[in-house]
Amino acid sequence: MEIKANLETVKKTFKNSACLLVAVSKTKPLEDLKEAYEAGIRDFGENKVQELQDKQPQMPEDVRWHMIGHLQRNKVKYIASYVHLIHGVDSFKLLKEIDKQGAKVNRQIPVLLQIHIAEEESKFGFDRSELEEMLSNPEFQAMKNVEVRGLMGMATFTENQDQVRKEFRGLKSQFEELKSQSLPDFMKMEELSMGMSGDYLIAQEEGSTMVRIGSAIFGARNYQ
Ligand SMILES: *Cc1c(COP(=O)(O)O)cnc(C)c1O
Repeated sequence: MEIKANLETVKKTFKNSACLLVAVSKTKPLEDLKEAYEAGIRDFGENKVQELQDKQPQMPEDVRWHMIGHLQRNKVKYIASYVHLIHGVDSFKLLKEIDKQGAKVNRQIPVLLQIHIAEEESKFGFDRSELEEMLSNPEFQAMKNVEVRGLMGMATFTENQDQVRKEFRGLKSQFEELKSQSLPDFMKMEELSMGMSGDYLIAQEEGSTMVRIGSAIFGARNYQ
């Protein structure tokens, strides 16, 4: 009941009703996912391949699984056949592996490129020069089994809302800039994944098309 009520509360505050809610269910038991499913959620986000692999066969087939965390190259093969969207593509090497695994399962795997926007060094993502370098690489332009659907970013973990807003605004302007360029056919600037429990309202005000929300729906997570 709690989860359903939380979902309603979160949805009610949305600044943009067209923004997709990805329910981040990492560390949460299957019962919680089922409750969210019953309440109408079809998009679930996980950040560990093993956990995703465990949950996927136990949930209905119409669930769209989002891989939201840092993804190791050697694990791409396990999720290649069914993953709906990989949010955190943070290197050319990883993208090449996804392309390779996509070819094996005969799919164009949808991904977002993660851009480093936070002050923290610890957060993953391309910086501007790395991204430009990849985009101009012929090997990138020849990719056949990935579909780049947009960008993803994580703001600095801070109480300073102005800073968070500034970072999201910077990501949005990078998104628009890319959109105005001539891009390969498999690259479409349509989705901008930004915003989590603590900053999704600011993210929506700054143009987010999908938010990844965990604790505001499922409650705080317990890590061992
Ligand atoms: C855990 C996680 C989230 C959700 O975080 P909450 O603060 O619980 O909403 C969103 N995005 C990524 C990449 C995450 O790892």
